[in-house]
Amino acid sequence: MKCPYCSEATSSVIDSREADDKNSIRRRRECGSCGKRFTTYERVEGIDLKIIKKDGTRQQFDREKLRRGIVKATWKRPVSMADIDELITDVECHLRKKQTSEVKSWEVGNLVIDKLRDIDNLSYLLFASVYRDFNSIEDFIEEIQQLQKKSAE
Ligand SMILES: [Zn+2]
Repeated sequence: MKCPYCSEATSSVIDSREADDKNSIRRRRECGSCGKRFTTYERVEGIDLKIIKKDGTRQQFDREKLRRGIVKATWKRPVSMADIDELITDVECHLRKKQTSEVKSWEVGNLVIDKLRDIDNLSYLLFASVYRDFNSIEDFIEEIQQLQKKSAE
């Protein structure tokens, strides 16, 4: 890791601890040349996955983008940020296990939809309406009827 002050490549770690979010390690380093100190963070790399969109274009999987979509769908619903983070982590874990480098956007959408259904029905419907391209009110009603059938079982 290059020193941000003098670009020297050797530094020593003087302190190493878990960051507040528990997902990264925070390291204090001291430059071997100028002696200045700086901080680095080490984290597990996000999932390296390409999403194939409906129009055939490919996009890097973006956890933040997915989170924004879910936050929008769960707005004013009893779904916490912790629920959403857990959901995304589950989805990422599932995708990682597939050991593939590309996945269709609807597959990711379906994974989210399945999990949202267990958390909050209305959020699920709102998210599904975007990801599944409900074209008409009939699509919506059909989905609601299936939900009611499921909860009646
Ligand atoms: Zn330096």
